[in-house]
Amino acid sequence: MTYHFALAGNPNSGKTSTFNQLTGAKQTVGNWPGVTVERKAGRLRKDRHVLIQDLPGIYSLSPYTPEELISRDYLMEASLDAVINIIDGTNLERNLYLTLQLLEMNVPTVAAINMIDLLKKKGLQINFEKLAYGLGIPVVGISALKQRGLAKMIEAAKHAVNTQQLPPRYDDRLEAGLTEIMAILPETIPQQQKRWFALKLFEKDEAIQAMCKLTDSQQAVLQETISILEMIFKDSSDAILVNERYGFIEELLALAVIKETDQHLAFSDKIDRVLTHRVLALPIFAFIMWGIYYLSIQTIGTIGTDWVNDVLFGSWIPETAAHWLEQLRVAQWLQELILDGIVAGVGAVLGFLPQIFVLFFCLAILEDCGYMARVAFVMDRLFRKFGLSGKSFIPMLIATGCGVPGVMASRTIENEKDRRLTVMVTTFMPCSAKLPIIALISGAFFPHYSWVAPSAYFVGMGAVIFSGIVLKKTPLFAGDLAPFIMELPAYHLPQLTTILKSACDRAVAFVKKAGTIIFVACIFVWFTSSYNFALQRVSEDQSILAFFGRLLAPLFAPLGWGTWRGAVATITGLVAKENVIGTFGILYGQTGELSESGTEIWQVLRGDYTAVAAYSFLVFNLLCAPCFAAIGAIHREMGDSKWTWLAIGYQCGLAYCASLLVYQFGHVIFEGGHLTLGVFAAIVVTGLLVFALVKKPFRGSAPLIQVVGGEK
Ligand code: GDP
Repeated sequence: MTYHFALAGNPNSGKTSTFNQLTGAKQTVGNWPGVTVERKAGRLRKDRHVLIQDLPGIYSLSPYTPEELISRDYLMEASLDAVINIIDGTNLERNLYLTLQLLEMNVPTVAAINMIDLLKKKGLQINFEKLAYGLGIPVVGISALKQRGLAKMIEAAKHAVNTQQLPPRYDDRLEAGLTEIMAILPETIPQQQKRWFALKLFEKDEAIQAMCKLTDSQQAVLQETISILEMIFKDSSDAILVNERYGFIEELLALAVIKETDQHLAFSDKIDRVLTHRVLALPIFAFIMWGIYYLSIQTIGTIGTDWVNDVLFGSWIPETAAHWLEQLRVAQWLQELILDGIVAGVGAVLGFLPQIFVLFFCLAILEDCGYMARVAFVMDRLFRKFGLSGKSFIPMLIATGCGVPGVMASRTIENEKDRRLTVMVTTFMPCSAKLPIIALISGAFFPHYSWVAPSAYFVGMGAVIFSGIVLKKTPLFAGDLAPFIMELPAYHLPQLTTILKSACDRAVAFVKKAGTIIFVACIFVWFTSSYNFALQRVSEDQSILAFFGRLLAPLFAPLGWGTWRGAVATITGLVAKENVIGTFGILYGQTGELSESGTEIWQVLRGDYTAVAAYSFLVFNLLCAPCFAAIGAIHREMGDSKWTWLAIGYQCGLAYCASLLVYQFGHVIFEGGHLTLGVFAAIVVTGLLVFALVKKPFRGSAPLIQVVGGEK
């Protein structure tokens, strides 16, 4: 016997490729009668008893186009044994629409899912068995291009001949209506085609209506059924069918198709079970941050920084510059300005570039792979207990790069009080400009303690949490928390280009700042530290800067670092935090020796401060008012000077208290200090802070801690 198979499918589904593979060069090409659409038929290369008819590429069987009409007419021919529906597997949803209509016609059909070679690349997995079950027909995976599965497809088509396939069932109410329509159909219509005719009449298909020649009373029944269903579904009859088909397809896809993103999600869920675990999440985060700081400040980054400090700015640049300045007979004062001011100051800051780069590289990995979003989620749980929303963590995360965009990011917080609170505390997080201070102090005073550098991060976070608890109790900030809804992206391997770009952007910003604002500040610091009020060249100790430094120094004496240099560095840090290091570079590096290196500055520093005093200096500079640019951002976000001053006052006050506790208690515990007035003051401050923590919240607001949303 000869089998008559037809290939049907959407344009571009690979029908022609399949046809050519199956029939080889022996295809017959002709025109479909009546219209100028190319018609192809051919015998199977490996089995001359199989005749393959290639139908035009179509999206549906509603007669909107000549191709659709031709295909439909051909499919209604009795001589056809089976239809092979070529389906583009990468575009299942659209392609299955035609499949359903083929099934509605009740012709034996085989679904051939083409392009299976592309599925993996597109991150798709199709379960053919489940799809076959859902559709009620054989489903075969093929690749016309790679000649895979074609023999199996023909076998399946042969088996499908004369089998009874069930058409897809739609909504019960629609099915009931179709049954009514089937009852009025003329006897001439074959039984197995009745449901399809009913569907077409329901769809108001004119060609089929003309074929059916319904009587007036039959027409009345049809119209009534249609209008009842249109009322029930609140849609036109053809739209009802389109919706039903797509609904059916949606269920099929849910049953049989796995998208890689879904798999990723399942994978992400598993990782999240650990990384966002109620107990483990925070220790894991602390460990990761420790690792990052360890890498950037203690190990890898340090190699680069040592080189920049010792070789580049330690000898190469100063020596070369000195040589050229000598050669050009540049005035002595200008030589000193360039070497002792600019090279020493800007160089000290730029020396930290490698460490900053490594830190940002690591942070960018955490952001890109999706971990930081989890941290925000975990922080929401933690912050919420302390009166802050997880949304506040996003500005803080941004502030680890720079406080200015961090403060600006608080705009995403709708609640005015929460927003102000976030603006106030965001700059506690160590930004890139504070990193050199962290690196300098931990390198100079704690070279063997890897926890010191990351502790800066946690000091910042501790200050945020403390402020959240304390400030939320005041009438200024009391109020309910808005829910925090955040979509957690699936984890993925970080992209090197994205990470490099992020780290480079930040590094470039750092270098730009060193070349502009820090550059100018270094000139200022050099000048005021080299001259007295009579503009005579004097030693540092008699300089203008020393004079003002000494005025301020007693203020910082209880914090352990009441030297004029420390006081001046802190004040210049208000212009930009890098200036703290730039100033140290000038003040501690200015010994007249050109070969002064970073390591030697560390030694000089160690002579001036104890380790505890140095840590207290670090804590103060981390928490006190940020640089002018960030203060400007705070002013813009707060909207008025009163709030801005309040923020600066609070930040400086908290910084002072924290440093006082660190130095006074640390000095007694680790350095055998005596019980002095300072220790007494620290005890009083501790009492006040604890009181602020435990005191009852401001009345007149809803309960302080309200867990809404964001919980997992
Ligand atoms: P038709 O419009 O349905 O006749 O589709 P064609 O046979 O012209 O194929 C459309 C495009 O899909 C062409 O570029 C084919 O090379 C490509 N194609 C067809 N089958 C496959 C397949 O199995 N794998 C891949 N990767 N591409 C295919």
